[in-house]
Amino acid sequence: MELFAVPEIPEIREGDDLAATIAERVDLRPDDVVCVASTVVSKAEGRAADLEEFPAGPRAKEIARNLEEISGDEKDPRFAQAVLEESTDVVMEEPFVLTETRFGHVGVNAGIDRSNVPEHDLLLLPKRPTESAERIHEKLPESPPVIVTDTSGRPFRHGQRGMAIGWAGMPASRDWRGETDRDGHELEVTVQNVVDELAGAANLVSGEGDDGDPVVVVRGWEFGDHDGSDNMFREMRGDFVRQALRDWEYED
Ligand code: GDP
Ligand code: MN
Ligand code: MN
Repeated sequence: MELFAVPEIPEIREGDDLAATIAERVDLRPDDVVCVASTVVSKAEGRAADLEEFPAGPRAKEIARNLEEISGDEKDPRFAQAVLEESTDVVMEEPFVLTETRFGHVGVNAGIDRSNVPEHDLLLLPKRPTESAERIHEKLPESPPVIVTDTSGRPFRHGQRGMAIGWAGMPASRDWRGETDRDGHELEVTVQNVVDELAGAANLVSGEGDDGDPVVVVRGWEFGDHDGSDNMFREMRGDFVRQALRDWEYED
């Protein structure tokens, strides 16, 4: 298996055809997986926005005021408003805002970026990243699987990494249950989230700054003979960590 960045992707603008942009720069094969940074999907889908589009309501003002008190830094309540409008649930509102986006991903500030966005204040995540992935997947020659990635932090660990927020043409996970390890023990729980693993590898190649490499091809990786599933985002019922957070309070 190898990974490489698709060369010379230009600055992506609203209305750009990402599949065509990619197909012009690489000869794709059916055993490729194409990983696309959500940044460029968002740009193509016109998800850049300005703070003035989000006049702050009382909740956003309260969140911003509270964060200002905690951090000592000035916080724009319009940013909090944008986060609220992108979200269906606020998981934590201090010392940072962690929410569930409309498509089920839980992320800090609803995954809204303020970097790599020319001429605008904000870049919202794609509205429905799996549908974005499907559109690109269907348009690309050879129809390789497509993963839309974002850089995200995780609980319990420092640092951010690439994660899959949408995918098409392949299942999210491969199921090892029922297979045996090297000692002949049957695996009982392992459902491997392969789209996150591929997104992590791709993000390593993309970088986070001005590299200009938002599209990475994974070539020669095989899903293998496994069952697959598309479960990615835990539901509240069965998400015990999130349930515990409901009763948690931040103490400085
Ligand atoms: P995110 O992880 O999806 O939020 O995206 P990042 O902002 O970390 O950017 C991922 C990669 O895409 C980095 O290498 C950026 O330099 C690059 N990038 C972002 N926007 C563009 C663009 O419009 N054109 C090109 N060529 N690269 C971009
Ligand atoms: Mn991002
Ligand atoms: Mn990134």
